[in-house]
Amino acid sequence: MDKFDYIIAGGGASGLSLAFYLSNSSLKNAKVLIIDKDQKNKNDRTWGFWTSEQTVFESIIAYQYKNIEFISKFTNRTIPLGEYSYNVIKGIDFYRFVRSHLSMFPNFSFISESISQINDTENGAEVITNQGVYTAKWVFSSIFDEKEIVKAAASKLYLRQHFAGWVIETSKPVFDLKSVRMFDFRTPQENQMRFFYVIPHSENRALVEFTIFSENLLEKLQYETALREYISSILELDDYQIIENEFGVIPMTNFRFPSTRGKHIINIGSAAGSSKPSSGYTFARIQKHVKKIVEKLEQGKAPVISANSPIKYHLYDSVLLNILKRNGGLSEEIFSKMFINNNIRQIFQFLDEEGGIRNDLKIITSLPPLPFLRSTLDLLF
Ligand SMILES: Cc1cc2nc3c(=O)[nH]c(=O)nc-3n(C[C@H](O)[C@H](O)[C@H](O)COP(=O)(O)OP(=O)(O)OC[C@H]3O[C@@H](n4cnc5c(N)ncnc54)[C@H](O)[C@@H]3O)c2cc1C
Repeated sequence: MDKFDYIIAGGGASGLSLAFYLSNSSLKNAKVLIIDKDQKNKNDRTWGFWTSEQTVFESIIAYQYKNIEFISKFTNRTIPLGEYSYNVIKGIDFYRFVRSHLSMFPNFSFISESISQINDTENGAEVITNQGVYTAKWVFSSIFDEKEIVKAAASKLYLRQHFAGWVIETSKPVFDLKSVRMFDFRTPQENQMRFFYVIPHSENRALVEFTIFSENLLEKLQYETALREYISSILELDDYQIIENEFGVIPMTNFRFPSTRGKHIINIGSAAGSSKPSSGYTFARIQKHVKKIVEKLEQGKAPVISANSPIKYHLYDSVLLNILKRNGGLSEEIFSKMFINNNIRQIFQFLDEEGGIRNDLKIITSLPPLPFLRSTLDLLF
């Protein structure tokens, strides 16, 4: 049985971020084991996030935009981001970057094994894999069993953000590298929130992604048909090649994710509630959460910190999630009004849960009141 100070169960976005911040902290000499069932040598996702600050991952930002496009039947606008930028990091670059950084620390080790159990013990926790048992004072886990969460969230609102995307290459230069198309609602809504986003990689290459907020997933063919239709009738492209494809599901729920799974087992990542319930944006929230965990560890305190939204934002998200669930077709108008009536700083601060009550009220009062009133009453009664 191998003993460690910390075991990180799951070496994805949150696990590797935690390891990265640990290696840059006063705990850099701790004995750390990172366990993942995958080798993480494929580009299994790309992360988009906005920020007004430099990040520690600056050197691996693949694409950066200073404008976003918002297109719906209510408005068609290109919005300059001011002090913000919209950044895109490729999963594979992130995995390689963190692993290469950690290779300078002989006390950080990786194994590729499948974890079957994590149990609390008297003085720490043990991780059981298909090949062995490992113990540590603290175990941090991002392993996420959706079925378990759906069961625990039975009395809550539970939607999924599900999306399928293609990286396409065209023979002619057609994409504008200055802007990311964040929302394009020009697709049949089917009383759900459905939109496309387009992330240009070069003038003739872009990720085109079809995104839906709803309870159930579609058939594979339905995503493909919508993608094909958008590319031909909206982007007006016939001559293109599909270079890569992506599929993902992110939980969108007002279930309060537990911060721990035992006295010495701490949840991180989506498993801890780092996915914003009403938007699915997770990457930037993970960074904030795991940094706080490292601070607690440095102070010699138990690293138990909630990644869930503060109660005020939890309530706003619940009201919006309820609209998305019952009448998702209204989302095109709701999001359009938000982007028409507020400036980008106000919007990003609200979405980042940072703007303060005046900013919250400014955003909330700019939205159509009736759906929110009905949804609030519905949740109350
Ligand atoms: C395709 C896709 C695109 C996304 N795009 C964005 C985006 O643009 N912006 C954004 O903010 N968020 C995005 N997200 C949401 C979120 O940022 C990611 O899901 C993020 O990877 C979550 O981090 P995590 O650490 O919680 O989980 P992961 O990164 O999924 O890490 C969990 C790790 O646990 C490992 N694991 C699972 N089970 C076991 C087991 N039994 N034994 C050992 N290892 C195991 C997995 O292999 C994985 O490496 C996206 C999600 C997906 C799926």
